[in-house]
Amino acid sequence: MTVLIKNGRVIDPANNIDAPKDVLIDKGKIKAVESPGKISTGDLKNSSTIDAKDCVVCPGFIDMHVHFREPGFEYKETIESGCQSAAAGGFTSVAVMPNTNPVNDTRSVTELMLSLAKTKGIINVYAIGAITQGLAGERLSEMADLKDAGAIAFSDDGCPVMNNELMRRAFEYSKMFKLPLIQHSEMLDLTEGGCMNEGTVSTELGLKGMPVEAEDIMVYRDIALLEKTGGRLHVAHVSSRNSVDLVRQAKAKGLPVTCEVAPHHFILTDEAVRGYDTNTKMSPPLRTRKDVEHIKEGLRDGTIDIIATDHAPHDITDKQVEYQNACFGIVGLETALPLTLKLVDEKIFSMSDAIKKLTSTPADIFNLNAGNLSLGKGADISIFNPDFKYSINVSKFHSKSKNSPFDGWQVKGKVLHTLVRGKIVYSAAEN
Ligand SMILES: [Zn+2]
Repeated sequence: MTVLIKNGRVIDPANNIDAPKDVLIDKGKIKAVESPGKISTGDLKNSSTIDAKDCVVCPGFIDMHVHFREPGFEYKETIESGCQSAAAGGFTSVAVMPNTNPVNDTRSVTELMLSLAKTKGIINVYAIGAITQGLAGERLSEMADLKDAGAIAFSDDGCPVMNNELMRRAFEYSKMFKLPLIQHSEMLDLTEGGCMNEGTVSTELGLKGMPVEAEDIMVYRDIALLEKTGGRLHVAHVSSRNSVDLVRQAKAKGLPVTCEVAPHHFILTDEAVRGYDTNTKMSPPLRTRKDVEHIKEGLRDGTIDIIATDHAPHDITDKQVEYQNACFGIVGLETALPLTLKLVDEKIFSMSDAIKKLTSTPADIFNLNAGNLSLGKGADISIFNPDFKYSINVSKFHSKSKNSPFDGWQVKGKVLHTLVRGKIVYSAAEN
């Protein structure tokens, strides 16, 4: 079976391509990327054609930070529904966080997740193992076992590793296994009971704040430990201006630090909380305009390596409660592209740089065999129309959960087809 994708603008940052090209896929792999009209399927059997006129054709997006809730919280999301949501957003690879029930802190849970992904998932799923047993922050997990079972990184996301000595040992071990540690940076003793950013808005609303220093201090500590132990640190969802500055300084020193930002942290500020919409409650919380400006500068100058959604599905019963009692987090897979394209419109970065942060850079950081359209590679491809205008409608989300603050937003940029190993796993026309 061969597929010809023609008339598109191919953007493949890893190979420095941004030009009108046709792409030929054969037996699930990239067979040719040529100037328009050069590839003929006339003599090819079983061929189909996708017309990508007005569209960008690029490597499938990679999201290194999602919560698919299985095992344990299948009413919020399953690996199957999460994969469908990802495909609808143009993602062909995701990495699932370990805060499931049971926690992914042992070989058997990693194996279960990966086998569910294989049988029920329509995209590539990678597993992130826990740093500590039960995410309790007391004893390290069996990192060797987790790696053996297929874990590609370690994180206690949602439950930051507070203990300094334990974190130091985690760096030492993860270094032996050559896998990065992903930290959710938050000093819990500073944020206890808080539900939004601490500042003038929280004071006006009468909500308990989470001070920005809670994030800054942990980023600083982790970089300080890393400098001593070696290993690799990936800072999850940076949201504060000081975090961006600290990562920039660490990179200037040559330390192996990378970081990600979630779209909501470069689109929204804590002003969005004023309506008490619990879909504006996430951790880290939405910060101030000044923080957002620093984040955009970090994206522009490369301090922020990648964009990751922190897709955190929650049921309506977790969110239709008083603001302080609502769960943290929002779904992100089906809104990431149009929100990222807003920054392309603002000229924060080019289309190619935006795609790079969603494809080849995450693949490089986490050592994944994905993220480019090199000849012979598995044909994981996203095809989107960057100018297609529509309004976000959460009721149409493929995710089981609808907790998004972007419902009703007018946006630009729609995924039309997603292919995994040459097979169409999502088409907008059918939905
Ligand atoms: Zn987190």
